[in-house]
Amino acid sequence: MTAPPADLPLDLPDAQLPGVLGAALAGLYTGEPRLPARPGGRAAGLAALRAWTGAGYRERNHLSGNVSRLSMYLRHGMIGIREVAAHARHVLRGRERDEFLRQLTWGEFFRLVLRQEGARVLDNLEEPKYPARWTDALPDDVRAARTQLPCVDAWVTHLIRDGWLHNHERLWFAAYLIHWRGVHWRAGYAFFREHLLDGDIASNALSWQWVASTFSGKPYFMNQENVERFSGGRWCRTCTANCPFRGSYEELEARLFSGHLPQQSPASPGGGDPRHAAPAEEPAAEVAPTPIQPTGPTAPRVVWVHGDGLSVTDAALSACPDAPALFVFDRPFLSGTPVAFPRLAFMYQGVRDIAAARRAPTHARVGAVAGELAAFARAYGAGELHVTRNFTPEFTRILAGVRAAHPDLRVVVHDPERLTSYDGPVRRFFGFWKKVEREVLQGSPSPDAPRRGHR
Ligand SMILES: Cc1cc2nc3c(=O)[nH]c(=O)nc-3n(C[C@H](O)[C@H](O)[C@H](O)COP(=O)(O)OP(=O)(O)OC[C@H]3O[C@@H](n4cnc5c(N)ncnc54)[C@H](O)[C@@H]3O)c2cc1C
Repeated sequence: MTAPPADLPLDLPDAQLPGVLGAALAGLYTGEPRLPARPGGRAAGLAALRAWTGAGYRERNHLSGNVSRLSMYLRHGMIGIREVAAHARHVLRGRERDEFLRQLTWGEFFRLVLRQEGARVLDNLEEPKYPARWTDALPDDVRAARTQLPCVDAWVTHLIRDGWLHNHERLWFAAYLIHWRGVHWRAGYAFFREHLLDGDIASNALSWQWVASTFSGKPYFMNQENVERFSGGRWCRTCTANCPFRGSYEELEARLFSGHLPQQSPASPGGGDPRHAAPAEEPAAEVAPTPIQPTGPTAPRVVWVHGDGLSVTDAALSACPDAPALFVFDRPFLSGTPVAFPRLAFMYQGVRDIAAARRAPTHARVGAVAGELAAFARAYGAGELHVTRNFTPEFTRILAGVRAAHPDLRVVVHDPERLTSYDGPVRRFFGFWKKVEREVLQGSPSPDAPRRGHR
């Protein structure tokens, strides 16, 4: 039986991706259709993991430091957090090993904050720790990489070209946008979401809030010396601009924050500002899906594959190796907030690897997810839908839509892989780290391990 036309073919070679996928997803992405700077999928993720030796990770704050660049694969579940931790324990030693595992734990911390706070992570979790007056829109000169500051323009250019930035560049750019340009962190979050291959609601929104001081005790900012030192002087050496970052930290603090900053955060992350309450969930704009034609016999259960679990090792897929599976590009969601095409192609490559690795049929479609899932289960005559949980507001919305569209369908939710077993409340990373440190490091920290400090 051949796949119906409404299904996306899952055997497209990379050369055809921009053309065929670009046409199928028209209106759901920004910019021109092109391949991602790094290929997506489990095979590519595993190859990148195995190739990373970690040597020199201690220099990770330098742009030349040997960071793993695995974030896009981790973000989409193409490789698992536990297999990355196991690899790090194998190839790294002492302080470097501890430092890498601590960084990996930041991602888990942010996901737990998302689980706790839900859609509130898209709003100020706390009051800013200085008298901030932010505008809403991303300035045109920033978006176009024409700020006349070679470093800032390079960060924007690399973000758009590669879909990835070094953590220090992300911090510098965020500080520039929020503190020097007076733009609300949400505009930066949206810009990153549009272009990052690893863009995810938890790490992205909460890192922006951390810089803005709405999820930290004080704002993060840098000076020119810091940029020059950690970039190896690559922009500063030849820069003729009137550098806004020049000055001591005390001078910049007085200039940017009109005085001294508090030492401690007075607010709790859950406090929130009622004037900025998260908007109520919009009901999903459901359009009747075009009929699904099963490519195999009826099946008692089907699997929903989503963007956090794009690997055959996904918990729901592993539990149901013989069940037909469906991935849906969420048309209503993406038409409201499109992302750059390479991210969609990266995800497609992940689904394509899943299809190639499974014996049961795997489908990919474009539509309203809840309606597509309900129709998919009906088409296969399935009584159960299996899925791996994620903590995004969309996940909850979609499952509610599935239950409404197909009340007889039993939804079985599998837990995602975790690095730690901690399940209590979370507030600041340092407190969380103290609770999970021994579990993550599988013992005591190395004698020379950092105790806290720079992220
Ligand atoms: C403003 C801003 C926005 C960000 N948005 C995202 C995002 O959308 N998605 C995302 O995955 N990361 C985000 N980060 C965190 C961090 O910059 C990236 O995870 C990291 O740069 C990825 O590169 P790497 O894989 O080489 O990291 P490595 O240093 O090799 O670390 C290994 C893994 O640990 C995790 N990790 C490392 N540092 C952090 C961190 N500070 N916070 C959370 N996880 C971390 C990532 O999964 C990463 O792949 C953001 C940081 C800032 C300052």
